[in-house]
Order: sequence, then structure tokens, then C-alpha cells
Amino acid sequence: MVFKSKNFCIVLSSPSGAGKTSISKMLLTKDKSLSLSISCTTRPIRKGEVNKKDYIFLTNDQFNQSKKNNKFLESADVFGYKYGTLKESVNNFFNKKRDVLFDIDWQGYQQLKQSNMDVVGIFILPPSKKELINRLRIRGRDTSNEMKKRMNLVQNEISHFPEYDYVIINDQLKDCVNKIKNIIDTERLKKSRLINLTNFVNKFRN
Ligand code: 5GP
Repeated sequence: MVFKSKNFCIVLSSPSGAGKTSISKMLLTKDKSLSLSISCTTRPIRKGEVNKKDYIFLTNDQFNQSKKNNKFLESADVFGYKYGTLKESVNNFFNKKRDVLFDIDWQGYQQLKQSNMDVVGIFILPPSKKELINRLRIRGRDTSNEMKKRMNLVQNEISHFPEYDYVIINDQLKDCVNKIKNIIDTERLKKSRLINLTNFVNKFRN
């Protein structure tokens, strides 16, 4: 008999450039029970991004209206733009018995923890400051102004690592993804998440 596990949320947070997007993509191909939460944002769409696939891109008015209508599970201002997770999309995943992966910042993580959701938080650190700057440069999708803004916020973001359950350094992408996959698999085995455990154990009684 295989135990089913209650579905839960996995939050990945990190400073910009620590590799969260690549990690999430690889994780989704490795773990077929996992779905990625697609956030809403008011930030402009970047080259190569697809609306409703990478983000649901909204105007300020659309975002504010959704917020007013209590549509968001969590929302935050990040780098001068608004970001938020729709309650409906997360509920849809849970109805389909999926675990949900969130690529959100510490503010969103705090809000999820404060709600009654079952959340596992993983904080990703880059191997060094030098490497972080390097990665942001190679990525090259941000304007130099935006990059400066992001670098200034790195320290603030990193200061929130103690609030997370796990901290991983993304030195080698593949290793990092394997570690996260192991964490998720282990979290699925937690006694508190196992469905039918009591029934199963009761069968051993005389
Ligand atoms: P980017 O604009 O580079 O895709 O994301 C900027 C930051 O916003 C990242 O740290 C990302 O994790 C965070 N972010 C993306 N979506 C959400 C969301 O729905 N809520 C919150 N709180 N942060 C988000």
C-alpha cells in the first residue's frame, strides 16, 4: 500500500539572480505531482516571456481591482511593481490533488505562513556576492538602473533567510534541484501529512 500525502505548498524565495526560475523549471520536470503557481504582476513583460505562462500581466487598475475583490491569497510590492497569487488558481491545483510550488518573495511567504496553509519554505542563496552580480549581468534582461535597484535590495532579501525551513546554496544547479526534490519527497512522508495512516496501522491489531 502506498500512502497518499495531504497536498501542501512549497515556497522558493531568494535574492534576484540566485537561479529560482531555472530551479523551478527543472523541478517541475522532475516532480510530476508538482504544479507551479503563476503569479499576477504589474511589471512590464520581458523579452521571451509569455502572458499567462510566466505571469498574468495586469495593469495597475486591474491589479487593484482584484485586490479590492479579495482575489489574492497574498500580494506584495517588489522592486516598485505589484505581485500577487490568485486564490482561485491555488485552489484549482489543490482540487486536482497537486502540491503547489511558489516562486515568491519573503513578504508573500510570510502571508502564506500567516494564513492557514500548509507551507514549506526554502530559501536559495547564491554561492557568493561576486557570482550573484555575474549572474545578473549574464542574464542581461534588466536595465542597469533596475539591476542597481535589485542589488540594493539583495541584502534586505537575504536577511529573511532565518524565517525559512531550509536554506540551500545554488552552486551547481543540478545538485540544488536534487536537494530540493529530496526535501519535497521527505516532506511528503511526514506523519502529519499521511492520509490513511491510522487505518493502515489499525489493521495490525488483533
Ligand atoms: P521577477 O520580476 O524578477 O520575475 O520577480 C521579482 C520578485 O518577485 C522575485 O523575488 C519573485 O519571487 C517575486 N514574486 C513573483 N511573483 C510573486 C508573487 O505572486 N508574490 C510575491 N510576494 N512575490 C512574487
